[in-house]
Amino acid sequence: MSLSELAAELDARDPLARKRAEFDVDPELSYLDGNSLGAPPRAVAPRLAEVVGRAWARRLIRSWDEGWWEAPERVGGRIAPLVGAAPGQVVVGDSTSVNLFKALVAAVRLRPGRHEILLDGGTFPTDGYIADGAAGLTGHTVRRVPVDELAAAVSERTAAVVVNHVDFVSGRLHDMAAVTAAAHASGALAVWDLCHSVGALPVRLDELGADFAVGCTYKFLNGGPGSPAFLYVASKWLESFDQPLAGWAGHRDPFAMSADYAGGRGIRKARTGTPDILSMLALDAALDVWDDVTIDEVRAKGLALGDFFLRCLDELLPDARVLTPREHRRGNQIALSWPDAGTVMAGLIDRGVIGDFRPPDTLRFGLAPLYTRYHDVLRAATELRTLT
Ligand SMILES: *Cc1c(COP(=O)(O)O)cnc(C)c1O
Repeated sequence: MSLSELAAELDARDPLARKRAEFDVDPELSYLDGNSLGAPPRAVAPRLAEVVGRAWARRLIRSWDEGWWEAPERVGGRIAPLVGAAPGQVVVGDSTSVNLFKALVAAVRLRPGRHEILLDGGTFPTDGYIADGAAGLTGHTVRRVPVDELAAAVSERTAAVVVNHVDFVSGRLHDMAAVTAAAHASGALAVWDLCHSVGALPVRLDELGADFAVGCTYKFLNGGPGSPAFLYVASKWLESFDQPLAGWAGHRDPFAMSADYAGGRGIRKARTGTPDILSMLALDAALDVWDDVTIDEVRAKGLALGDFFLRCLDELLPDARVLTPREHRRGNQIALSWPDAGTVMAGLIDRGVIGDFRPPDTLRFGLAPLYTRYHDVLRAATELRTLT
């Protein structure tokens, strides 16, 4: 069977093929960048029109009492099952960067007397900048350590470890169970960045005892450009955590307008200021696509798409340098090290295959199982061959 016959058969047999119709994706494109910006679910535009035209225009200020004020916890509650969290531990708002700042400072405050933060050596840059900034304020030092060496590096000096669940360049999936257990064995807390795993693969925060987690919603959750991020605080810390951006939205009684801060109950305390309602309700609408699909089904297709992409590369471009693990210790992306990758990606985009380029030499292809077809993956490999 040729690769194109195989792609056609895999698409025909794909149990998630029906979901593609729920997205507004240009049929001319093979969009393989859902790990940077997810495609819009069709439900989003009419929902936003309703939020603006009815809730904002007609109900005006009254809408804050008709669901807006509670939206951060309510939408967080919809994300919770995707990250293995029982209700009441996830809130939506602000960016991943801001939430990481909150989580990391809260974590180190729970471990007084320990002066070191261990950071995933391959982290997405913002986590490093935020860790350095937080450490400067709290008097900690940040030590960057490859994830494989974290378990050996963590000690009684370590307050917290900060790890990306999936490496944003290679797509490698890190072992949340092992890293969390190693941190805990030395009395440190584990802070996870789930940007490339939420919506791509099952995450088991509660089961593995993770302490804090953050993640963005505009990648595999398709919330839209700049849609607000989420913050998870494990139930064991909900009483005691003390976050550094305590603002009025997290107050126990915000409309009392008290001069003194008193944190609200539970995850409410993680909030800072007025929620970004338009973006948050766009995300809320985008989450409807999960109503009739499980993260396990999405994971199965994500791995199958990746396996098929690797097979296409092996047949069409046997010299390709694949950075992503071939075994299933990866997220939903395939990354290649490629000469002159920036120019090559520009050429692919000209030909309707949209992936992305990460300096100095990486081509990244994101696989979004809710709308990516096997045909798209084959086309990426085929076009890549014509360009080389
Ligand atoms: C995309 C991404 C971010 C983005 O952070 P923002 O504050 O939302 O811009 C952070 N961390 C990781 C690992 C990412 O992949």
